[in-house]
Amino acid sequence: MYTHDVIIVGSGLAGLRAAMELVGRFDVAILTKVYPSRSHSGAAQGGVAAALGNVDGDTPEAHIFDTVKGSDYLGDQDAIEIMCNDAPAAIYEMEKLGCPFSRTGENKIAQRAFGGHSFQRACFSADRTGHALLHTLFEQSMKNAGKLQVYSEWYVTRLIVEDGVARGVVAFDIKTGRLEVFHGKTILFATGGYGRAYQITSNAYANTGDGITAAYRAGVPLMDMEFVQFHPTGLYQHGILLSEAARGEGGYLLNGLGERFMSKYAPSKMELGPRDIVSRSAQTEIDEGRGAGPNKDYVYLDLRHLGKEKLMERLPQIYNLAKDFIGVDAMKNPVPIQPTAHYSMGGIPADNDCQVLADEKGNLVKGFFAAGECSCVSVHGANRLGTNSLLDALVFGRRAGKKLAEVTGGMDWSPVDERKELDAALNEIRALREASGSEDMTSIRSELKNTMTYKAGVYRNGDDLGQAHKKIKELQERFKRAPMADKGNTFNTNMVESLELAHMLEYSELIVAGAIERKESRGAHARKDHPTRDDAGWLKHTMAFKTADGGYELRYKPVRITRFQPQERKY
Ligand SMILES: Cc1cc2nc3c(=O)[nH]c(=O)nc-3n(C[C@H](O)[C@H](O)[C@H](O)COP(=O)(O)OP(=O)(O)OC[C@H]3O[C@@H](n4cnc5c(N)ncnc54)[C@H](O)[C@@H]3O)c2cc1C
Repeated sequence: MYTHDVIIVGSGLAGLRAAMELVGRFDVAILTKVYPSRSHSGAAQGGVAAALGNVDGDTPEAHIFDTVKGSDYLGDQDAIEIMCNDAPAAIYEMEKLGCPFSRTGENKIAQRAFGGHSFQRACFSADRTGHALLHTLFEQSMKNAGKLQVYSEWYVTRLIVEDGVARGVVAFDIKTGRLEVFHGKTILFATGGYGRAYQITSNAYANTGDGITAAYRAGVPLMDMEFVQFHPTGLYQHGILLSEAARGEGGYLLNGLGERFMSKYAPSKMELGPRDIVSRSAQTEIDEGRGAGPNKDYVYLDLRHLGKEKLMERLPQIYNLAKDFIGVDAMKNPVPIQPTAHYSMGGIPADNDCQVLADEKGNLVKGFFAAGECSCVSVHGANRLGTNSLLDALVFGRRAGKKLAEVTGGMDWSPVDERKELDAALNEIRALREASGSEDMTSIRSELKNTMTYKAGVYRNGDDLGQAHKKIKELQERFKRAPMADKGNTFNTNMVESLELAHMLEYSELIVAGAIERKESRGAHARKDHPTRDDAGWLKHTMAFKTADGGYELRYKPVRITRFQPQERKY
């Protein structure tokens, strides 16, 4: 058994930012299933929001309102106020730590437009903002290498919670298969999103919702799981992201007839409407036969008019992605795109200091924290604004670190039954390894992903969701009869993929269950059979609890409204 004061799972922006508050004061361990600098944060492209006002008259007040409106009024407004007010300090801090932000002519941090924001608010490093931020924090962590223990390529399978107190995790070393208990006074999950359950997705392979599933299995509820964000500009058939920065820099969206279709859906914002609205608009063009290509199943992102200089200076990665993956030269031709599953608004419910909630009444799971995309604070509500999630990870990563320092200092060690925890983890692994039957993991994975994309996607309805639920139940059963090809211990990626698939099968049911129950359209959850927002019935958060018989129970929690009463959302 390994023992550390604080155990952080996840080395993306949220996990590394939290660690900075703790190193040198506590014995801190970070566990991560991928090498730290390969965490998904590094893939973020377009920018990180902060009302610096470097290019216009932006204010934190305007940022707060845009975020509340963008969330379709489901975001908790006290948390949103904290995030937007803390944003400028968070960015200047990253600048001081060495993050190479792009600059204005006066050598200030450059800022560009992004969907749903009413000012040029996105601070950026060309179109590699996440890479620049993540490497800055990773370098800072390396400075503290002697004081911070990083367990790289260790895969966490279980969260240990006994009598309402989090006590550690169980993880295995992917290289050797060795299983260990990690005992801590406090635990932080910063395990990222759950978008890999979808076939068309911009998410990294690692985003399989392991952290949220481990928490759920340990008795922690999950909040607002039905809210999955679809980004309008995924590369056709691949889902790889072409950042909103492309539209922030002036890119157009065209249908198959060459029309800038956003004039019909968000005339005042055009291509810079919020993502839920732009994704639905693109999907509507496709569904109504105005798509492009032989099957009319995509629309275009047109960057030709931006010119070579701007494209290569501001959007070089986007140019290369289109060229490398589908062979389109964005300087000469419009790029085929379609909506792609992109961001997880739901996750582990947490208060404004990232302390995890045990229920809808606000009781806490003692010693357990969550930050970043795996958490649901909730600052994004039903729809996240672009650039607000790197900000969420930085601001709430820092807050988590500060609160962890306070709580860990006053916490006693709670005992862990090492043998019991190892046996439970071994039993799960043994069941996977010894499964026999004629089912096939690859087919189950692809059937699940297709079900999620086509039955619980941009547009939803009761019939499709019902079919999706039935299908997931069927796949959960078939999974028990799917043998693992590699039964060894050494670098068994087959084992990792099987555990990840088990997680996806478990939490996808909660996405669909929440969506079936929520009989309204709000933010990213758009039901054709309930097309309007229903504040009287549904201005509330969903909380999914695991029941003793392996099923789930949905309960609800009010939204915290401080200053902005819900209004009709027009752009
Ligand atoms: C293509 C793309 C572009 C984006 N661009 C932007 C943007 O421009 N601006 C913006 O604000 N947001 C953007 N986002 C969203 C943003 O990148 C993420 O929300 C954010 O980086 C999440 O950070 P995180 O620290 O919460 O998690 P991550 O960076 O995803 O890190 C998760 C960590 O958890 C670890 N982990 C997970 N499971 C386990 C396990 N079982 N055991 C051990 N470790 C585990 C992983 O190894 C990893 O270290 C983008 C998202 C995508 C998909």
